[in-house]
Amino acid sequence: MTTPLDRSASWPFENGQAGRFSYSRADHPTGVACEEALGELDGGRALLFPSGTAAAMAVLLTLARPRSTIALAEGAYYGTSVLFRHLEPWGIRFVEYDQTGAPPSDADLVWVEAPSNPMLTMPDLDAATALGVPVVCDSTVATPLTLRPLDRGCDVALHSATKYLGGHDDVLAGVVVVHDDDLYERLHTTRRLTGMVADADTAWLLLRGLETLEIRVARQSASAGEIARRLGEHPAVSIIRYPGFGGLISFDVADGAAALRVEQSVRLITNSTSLGGTRSKLESRHRWEGDRCPPGLLRLSVGLEESDAIWADLEQALAANSA
Ligand code: PLP
Repeated sequence: MTTPLDRSASWPFENGQAGRFSYSRADHPTGVACEEALGELDGGRALLFPSGTAAAMAVLLTLARPRSTIALAEGAYYGTSVLFRHLEPWGIRFVEYDQTGAPPSDADLVWVEAPSNPMLTMPDLDAATALGVPVVCDSTVATPLTLRPLDRGCDVALHSATKYLGGHDDVLAGVVVVHDDDLYERLHTTRRLTGMVADADTAWLLLRGLETLEIRVARQSASAGEIARRLGEHPAVSIIRYPGFGGLISFDVADGAAALRVEQSVRLITNSTSLGGTRSKLESRHRWEGDRCPPGLLRLSVGLEESDAIWADLEQALAANSA
């Protein structure tokens, strides 16, 4: 009933020839089983990585060159811009743009996020793909249940599988899915040569997480929609961001001090980073992102608890701090 977990690092040759699996830095059976499932979900060929960041690094090494200009969605996952900045000594250039409109015309690569984390804007994928340069869509938050970027003309769908795909806060992984066979081979070569390979245990846990992806996301979305509506009516909340689907919400309270008090007052919800797991999590993003993000912004990842219980916890945390 479950995919066997094969932790072998190497396999015997067959009649002196390397078989389908010979050394696990290239491929391993549990990883390939997981990639088949992930490829089916996003409608392409998938490659597994040991983190979402490793997946992004492999895409960059494969598609960008010194002096390439990358147009990155403003308000997208902070770590992506930090990675790009870290790579500037290697000649990578990046500019941030409002992904709800067209990317700058001189971009060599467009990198959007659906929806951006934590600003929760959706990219204009028609405008992004109209430029005629490769488009990468990080659809970690949308998941393939809501958006299949390859069907919309993007070249690469990317996920931090650490989030909804894994879904239990016990696996760090990343995925890249592409249509084009040549691009697949180039990415595979990058992965093999750099050794950015997810191991068999990671693949196995991810496969298990995928079994419940649909039911988890359906419940998280239903609860998040209701909680977003109630937050929108709460006097202590000035701005609420919710794209209308999925389990991620961000909202603003009065200022940075209020945000810190609210996050430290929750009891059922965990005051922690990350998103997409079974347990609800709340955090001020300002601690990581500084001026990129309003000081009063709180990001809520809605988990699988009863939505009334999540709301009751939020309400007491907001009430304690708006008095
Ligand atoms: N993309 C998005 C949208 C994310 O939220 C994250 C992590 O938070 C990443 C990529 C990076 O993934 P990982 O933490 O698995 O390296």
